[in-house]
Amino acid sequence: MSRLTGVGVSSGRAAGPIVRVADPLPEPAATPAPADLVAEAARISPAADAVAQGLFQRAAKVGGDAKAVLETTAAMAMDPALTSQAEQLVSTRSLPAARAVFEAANGFADALRAAGGYMAERARDVHDVRDRIIAVIEGVTPPGVPEITAPSVLVARDLAPADTADLDPELVLALVTEEGGPTSHTAILARALGIPAVVAVRGVLGVPASGVPASGATVDGDEGTVELSDVEVAARAAERPEHADWDGVGQTSDGAPVKVLANVGSATDSTAAVEAGAQGVGLFRTEFCYLGADVEPDVATQRAAYAEVLAPFAGKPVVVRTLDAGADKPLAFLDMGVEPNPALGVRGLRVAFDRPDLVDTQLEAIAGAAQDSGAEVSVMAPMVATADEAAWFAERARARGIDRVGVMIEVPAAALSAAEILQAVDFVSIGTNDLAQYVFAADRMAGALAGLNDPWQPALLRLIAMIGQAGRHVDKSVGVCGEAASDPHLAGVLAGLGVTSLSMNASAVRAVGAALAQHPLGTFRKAAEAALEAPSAAAARQTTKTTLA
Ligand code: PEP
Ligand code: MG
Repeated sequence: MSRLTGVGVSSGRAAGPIVRVADPLPEPAATPAPADLVAEAARISPAADAVAQGLFQRAAKVGGDAKAVLETTAAMAMDPALTSQAEQLVSTRSLPAARAVFEAANGFADALRAAGGYMAERARDVHDVRDRIIAVIEGVTPPGVPEITAPSVLVARDLAPADTADLDPELVLALVTEEGGPTSHTAILARALGIPAVVAVRGVLGVPASGVPASGATVDGDEGTVELSDVEVAARAAERPEHADWDGVGQTSDGAPVKVLANVGSATDSTAAVEAGAQGVGLFRTEFCYLGADVEPDVATQRAAYAEVLAPFAGKPVVVRTLDAGADKPLAFLDMGVEPNPALGVRGLRVAFDRPDLVDTQLEAIAGAAQDSGAEVSVMAPMVATADEAAWFAERARARGIDRVGVMIEVPAAALSAAEILQAVDFVSIGTNDLAQYVFAADRMAGALAGLNDPWQPALLRLIAMIGQAGRHVDKSVGVCGEAASDPHLAGVLAGLGVTSLSMNASAVRAVGAALAQHPLGTFRKAAEAALEAPSAAAARQTTKTTLA
């Protein structure tokens, strides 16, 4: 038996036999050149067909989104453009079949990324298809989740959305990953399924101390621990929260309003958010409209793109965030140069200080899209550091007829100046993903630092409390739109700290709405006070669990 620790990202305790998710395949070698090029090229099409048939078979067993994801992936595998290009690479460059598929697929993925928007999101699917075809050619285990036949604990390096499209929630008892952090797909998925999850568990993929590969695991999503055992572990599921009784109104049990909103980036996201019962949108990430664009999209193009995302929320509140780009998200049409420290560089609203025309064009398009869609649109700016910056943005937005203006609080200086910032704008929304990264000086993408980026860290909660207090003082709303908002156990604590709206991935909406309705605001305030005084993130989680039991 060995005990490993990581970061608990979804609450509960469960145990069961381990199912290992296969690692991504290594890049296939370009040598040696095959002796018989015709025979080598002829291996590609049957491999692609086998992948497509396998995916169609999986699709036939499920419905809804999972079916669509699997059928689309199957169609990609059968795409004759992909196979014929790979065959050509074998004959013209004497590449082994696996390498030819690798290069042909990468060419397609790059083209999709350059096309931007929805198309760019499909690049990941092409990589998935690529690796499946290569696995068939090389006769190795394909990447992704193997077929699960009995209740199990899934252990992976990390999980991608395509890996999990058709996971049967009845058979997956818990998720454990060696990498990933509190904002990873694994964390989002586990909370949506209501199963325990621990991420950033270093060493979980290795052989445990006993020298025998572990066959079972006990996962504690509150403590952030995983006990590995080399003897059989009986399957034991965590109690799943009952969400069905949420009435769609975001409020505590004594009627204090806490809006339950969605984070969206596309029209598909908006439709999913409406279906999930979101009361509006707390964060519309507009970056998608710019991804891969070689020239700045004009007002009409942006207006049409935004209107499509806003339309499902006609008559409801939507907060549109202006472009959050720069540094690690460079824009192809802006020559921004190389920065030594991108996360601390010219990003978010800072891009607009030298190029105010960028934000003005966007604000004009947003105002137009508000008219076209009938949504109640507010705007907010990302990466604001001072009250002056907030005022600068508010003036530009109001000049374009957008009345309700806010800013994100993601920089510690902005958190410390919340009172002054709230004099310049109508609301603030806390981006806990970036705020945690900057407060702890810990890259939000670094699995090794996931423990610092844990939204239960008391230092982060104390900053949120300061902002909540500033909001209460002037009676203006304080939202949270980082991943912290999608944790149902943290939702009440945030409400207790003075947060008045929570915005999250559509999959978390019902669980968060239901959690808020379980206690009166006074109880959440007590839980918040205890969490603020906790010596660690784990202690904050634990004390909240006790207070809200
Ligand atoms: C955040 O930083 O918490 C946030 C919501 O913004 P993004 O994740 O898009 O940086
Ligand atoms: Mg951010």
